[in-house]
Amino acid sequence: MNEAKIDEKEEIGKTQFTKDVEEFMPSPHVSTDIYEIEATSGDLSLLSKYHYKFKEEYRATHVIRPGNTEELSKLMQKCDEYSLPMTLRAAGTSCYSASTPTKGGVIIDFRRMNKVHNIDKEKMVVKCDAGISWQKLMEELLEYGLAPKCYPTSYRASCVSGFVATSGKVGVGVLKNGSMKDILRSIVFVKPDGSTETITRESQGDLSLDDVIGSFGIFGAVAEVEMEVTSLKTSLEMVGYSFHTFKMAIEFFRTLKNSDASKPLFLSLSDKHFEKYAHWTFPSRDYFVYAVYSDDPSATSQSVSFAKETASKLDGLSVEEWYLKEKWRDMADTELNVGRWCENLIFQEYMVSDGRIEDFYNFYTETSKEKYRHAFYMMSGAKGENRVKLFGLSNIKDSREFFGIKAVFNDITKNNYENGDSLYTLGVVNTFYFLKYNPEKAAALLAMKNKLDPKDLVNSYRLVKAKMRTWRMGLLFWIAKRLFKTMKTI
Ligand SMILES: Cc1cc2nc3c(=O)[nH]c(=O)nc-3n(C[C@H](O)[C@H](O)[C@H](O)COP(=O)(O)OP(=O)(O)OC[C@H]3O[C@@H](n4cnc5c(N)ncnc54)[C@H](O)[C@@H]3O)c2cc1C
Repeated sequence: MNEAKIDEKEEIGKTQFTKDVEEFMPSPHVSTDIYEIEATSGDLSLLSKYHYKFKEEYRATHVIRPGNTEELSKLMQKCDEYSLPMTLRAAGTSCYSASTPTKGGVIIDFRRMNKVHNIDKEKMVVKCDAGISWQKLMEELLEYGLAPKCYPTSYRASCVSGFVATSGKVGVGVLKNGSMKDILRSIVFVKPDGSTETITRESQGDLSLDDVIGSFGIFGAVAEVEMEVTSLKTSLEMVGYSFHTFKMAIEFFRTLKNSDASKPLFLSLSDKHFEKYAHWTFPSRDYFVYAVYSDDPSATSQSVSFAKETASKLDGLSVEEWYLKEKWRDMADTELNVGRWCENLIFQEYMVSDGRIEDFYNFYTETSKEKYRHAFYMMSGAKGENRVKLFGLSNIKDSREFFGIKAVFNDITKNNYENGDSLYTLGVVNTFYFLKYNPEKAAALLAMKNKLDPKDLVNSYRLVKAKMRTWRMGLLFWIAKRLFKTMKTI
């Protein structure tokens, strides 16, 4: 077949939608390739893989990568015209099917929208495309002696838009400099019908910046972001202490967190299982608190002295410096490393308030003790907030274990909501909890969703409508718990 014939054949195979989109976008970025669709349909939690692989109606037909706001706006307008569902996706690291398709249609991959538009060193503000990765943004800011005020520990891959849409409440810099809500100045937003709006802190339109933060993309797409940045600090030091008891470790964690004079850039508390799975080796005692300080040299050294004094009062054992340095260097990989120790990694992320951490931990140990391989990792957010990530390591050969661990996490989730806390990341698979425990908030979000997206085309089945039925999940977990119990008594 000659080249002209191949071109003609390819052209005939294309749908009218594809041809229309190629009128305003380069064709290599309008993909119907099944491998590209697969690559952008899953995430690290296993359920989305199951859904898109085996449920035909979930699978998208296109992956389209707009390069700028104009292309994005035209694309969303075209999807709206054809009534095609849209799934907004940045790096896909948020899990729980937050950025995977549920109704077919088009996956809009934001990673080509990765340019910095302006860096204002005087005002300490950056304007950039929303699909830029934190890593790339950091590299560009570095040239100006600046750095992001906050970012997730997944910064190597994850993008600015993903942190905005998942709430950006916990990560590096949040405790010291504020969360996404504090630092966002304005966004360029594309609504489901393709119309574009700039939303600032003063905007009086349908949506405020706060509505978009943590909205999991249900109202439309963040195209560009303007946010505050900070100056690059001249000194960075880490401290790490291990403790015999959770009580001592949490007291140390809380004292460092609440000290106004020396706020850590990053603060975590983990158990020895997490340290072992994430770093191959681990401190000698059961609990480990890790803090990173970054400031000018005198402020950093005062913070380190404060941590040292506090630790000595609580019988903390200092951990060797090489370990602390490696932990910082490998920050983006630690959570992923746990997955290397098993065939099926199960995890759930909880938002736990400062005052409830001990209760949460006690409930977790009661429900999990010796039943399965597990790990505990807690990262500080702003004052009062923490993200606890629980891991369950299961083996593919025994599905009773897999579902049994899921049932344990379900109990912990219910207990957490019943005591006034919540899950950290929702996405498709966790939305049924949100609907059950936050019905009023969900109803308000639904009213806004119906106004902005009456055809329910964008990021369906997050926050306002669930794929899973609560009673079905309850029954599944009930059976799973009993089977898991039998397995443990055999
Ligand atoms: C190793 C590891 C470490 C992590 N550490 C942290 C952490 O410190 N703090 C934390 O909060 N999370 C953390 N996470 C979770 C995750 O990385 C973050 O939520 C991250 O911000 C998601 O970014 P992403 O680019 O991968 O977004 P995605 O996962 O692609 O998307 C997240 C959500 O945003 C929506 N979305 C994406 N782009 C847009 C857009 N342009 N407009 C509107 N909606 C959009 C998606 O539809 C989806 O609902 C971690 C995950 C891993 C695997």
